[in-house]
Amino acid sequence: MPEGDTVWNTARVLQRALAGARLTGSDFRVPQLAATDLTGWTVRESASRGKHLLLRLTAPPGAAAPADGNGRDWTLHSHLRMDGAWRAYAPGERWAARPAHLIRVVLRSPGAVAVGYHLHELALIPTAEEESLVGHLGPDLLGPDWDPDEAVRRLAAHPDESIGEALLDQRNLAGVGNLYKCEVLFLRGVSPWTPVRAVPDLAGTVGLAQRLLAANRGRWTQSTTGSLHRGQTSYVYGRRAQPCRRCGTAIRKEELGERVTYWCPACQPDR
Ligand SMILES: [Zn+2]
Repeated sequence: MPEGDTVWNTARVLQRALAGARLTGSDFRVPQLAATDLTGWTVRESASRGKHLLLRLTAPPGAAAPADGNGRDWTLHSHLRMDGAWRAYAPGERWAARPAHLIRVVLRSPGAVAVGYHLHELALIPTAEEESLVGHLGPDLLGPDWDPDEAVRRLAAHPDESIGEALLDQRNLAGVGNLYKCEVLFLRGVSPWTPVRAVPDLAGTVGLAQRLLAANRGRWTQSTTGSLHRGQTSYVYGRRAQPCRRCGTAIRKEELGERVTYWCPACQPDR
């Protein structure tokens, strides 16, 4: 499940594969960028902001602007949502991670080939306009500027919203998806439908979310239990009808579009 930690890891993969490299070719397989050619462009850095990926590039002198905008500093934006991924391959290595029809972009450099699968919101924008894409986001749980007080302030500004919805709202804090939402609320003993105003300790909830994401940086298996063994990595997420690890009650699941909630009705009573 691509959440803030997965996106942070992905940004690091792209940083290691491409940062400082001059691209030797590009192949965009989305209509809006089909005519774009980044050959000769230099990759400045790869960064994440919440669940958004920002690959910052510099155009060679004299290059035609690829879209509306001035200057030579551009950002290739992408979002993984539920199913997107970037992979870095060595030159000549087979691209085995996903089926080829899911490829949306290929970036070639002398040392690595980066392949983006099933990416969303793929766009090339002037770096100076990044804020138009990510400026609405709340404090980034894994960002260098993580600000827990601001995250609490933003959550508290919507007192009647359910805490389950509020934690997913990236305008409040950036990086939590369904997995961490479910796990944090279980560990805090809070029902996902509790209004924000009735959550006993918002700061503690926010702090726990940050620690769980941070603990999973640098690895692809997401665990909130401390175990990396298959089937033991979560308390409630993905465990419908299985016994709660604390009390044995059957874990429940409710689905509303892409919003999936798992919870233990005994450990997380409605208030
Ligand atoms: Zn329980």
